[in-house]
Amino acid sequence: MTDTCQDLRRRVRDLVAEWDFTPRCDSWASGYDPDFSQELGRRGLLAVTWPKEFGGAEGTNVDRFAVSEELLRAGAPVAAHWVGERQIGPSLLRHGTRELQEEFCPPLARAEYRFALGMSEPDAGSDLAAVRTKAVRDGDSWRVTGRKIWTSGAHRATHLYLLARTSQEEDKHAGLTEFIVSMDSPGITVSPILDLRGEHHFNEVVLEDVHVPGRWVIGDIGAGWPQVVGQLSFERGGPERFLSTYPLLTAVLRANLADDTARRELRALAGRLQVLRRWTLENARAMDAGHTPSTHAAMSKYLGNKFERDVIAWARPLMPRADRSIRALYDQAVAASPASGIRGGAAQVMLSVIAKGKK
Ligand SMILES: Cc1cc2nc3c(=O)[nH]c(=O)nc-3n(C[C@H](O)[C@H](O)[C@H](O)COP(=O)(O)OP(=O)(O)OC[C@H]3O[C@@H](n4cnc5c(N)ncnc54)[C@H](O)[C@@H]3O)c2cc1C
Repeated sequence: MTDTCQDLRRRVRDLVAEWDFTPRCDSWASGYDPDFSQELGRRGLLAVTWPKEFGGAEGTNVDRFAVSEELLRAGAPVAAHWVGERQIGPSLLRHGTRELQEEFCPPLARAEYRFALGMSEPDAGSDLAAVRTKAVRDGDSWRVTGRKIWTSGAHRATHLYLLARTSQEEDKHAGLTEFIVSMDSPGITVSPILDLRGEHHFNEVVLEDVHVPGRWVIGDIGAGWPQVVGQLSFERGGPERFLSTYPLLTAVLRANLADDTARRELRALAGRLQVLRRWTLENARAMDAGHTPSTHAAMSKYLGNKFERDVIAWARPLMPRADRSIRALYDQAVAASPASGIRGGAAQVMLSVIAKGKK
C-alpha cells in the first residue's frame, strides 16, 4: 500500500471517529447524510482520481479504493454522494465536453449535487438497450418523454442521469444518448416504490416533455451504449459489491458471539474476503491503466454478492444471542440481500457477461 493510500485511510478513519452516526449495512445505498458527504468533500476525500482543476486530487483508482473501503467497513452514511462520485463524474471526465465538466465536476466533488440513475424502464432492465424513453431535438435543446423505474434516491436527487433513445436504428444498441436532467424541471413526476419493509429507496420517474439543455448531452449523440457500458464497470467493480455486510461481520466478532462452528466458518469467509479484495483492486488498477474492465467487474459483482449472502447465513444462527444494535445490522443486511443480486445487473446477467467475456 502506498503512503498516499495510508494517509487517505487515516484521514477517513479520523472523520469516521469524529462523526456522530450509527453504522449500517448497505450504507452506500441507504445511509444518507448529505452533511457527512460534504464534509468528505471539504477534507479532499471525494473525487480523489479527478483533475485538481475539477476539485480532485489527481490520485489513482487504487487510492479511491482505499477511501471507499474505509467508509464501507465503517458502515458510514455515504449514499448522498455515492452515485455521482462513483460513476457520473468519471463518465463526464471521459466523455463530457469541457463545459460540462466545469459545470458539474466541482459541485460533485463537494457533494453538492446528488445524482440518481435513470437507466431501467418497465421493459428495459437486464436488456437495457431496449430503452424507450425518447429525446427529440427542440432547437438547441432536447425534449424528453418516457418512464424510468427503480430509480434509487430520485426523491432526494438534484439531477438525473438519463439514458434515452434519440433515433430508431435497426440495432437497438445504436441510437441511444446519455443526458443530464435537472430534477426540478417541469414535467418530472417522482412516485415512491416502497420495498418489502415499507422503506422508500426507489421510485418511478415519469418525464413528460421535459426540457434538457443541449449542453447537457454526455458525449456523442447516439453513442450512449458504449458509454454506459463503461459506466457500468465503475458501478459493478467496486468494494461496495462485497462490503455491504461487513459492519455485521465485525459487530458479531466484536461482541464475541461466534461459537466454535462460526469461528471455523469465519476462516473460509476471511479467505474469500481477501480474494475479493485483491480481485476488486485489479479493477481499480485496470481503470488506472485506462481500461474498461467490464468482464472483471461483472465477476466482482457476482462473487461479491455470493459472499455477502454467505455472511448473512453465517450470522443467522448467532442472532438469538445478539443485542438490538447487531440485530438491526442483520435486518438491514437481510432486507438488502435479495435486491443486491439484481441492482446494477442481475446475477444471471453477470454470468452471461462473464461467459461471453464482453469487454
Ligand atoms: C435495489 C435496487 C436498486 C436499483 N436502482 C436502480 C437505479 O437507481 N437506476 C436504475 O436505472 N435501475 C435501478 N435498478 C434496476 C436494476 O438495474 C434492474 O432491476 C436490473 O437491471 C434487472 O432488470 P429488471 O428488474 O427489469 O428484471 P428483468 O430484466 O426482467 O430480469 C428478471 C430476471 O430474469 C433473468 N434474466 C433476465 N435477462 C436474462 C438473461 N439475458 N440471461 C439470464 N437471465 C436473465 C434474471 O434472473 C433476472 O433477475 C435497481 C434495482 C434494485 C433491485
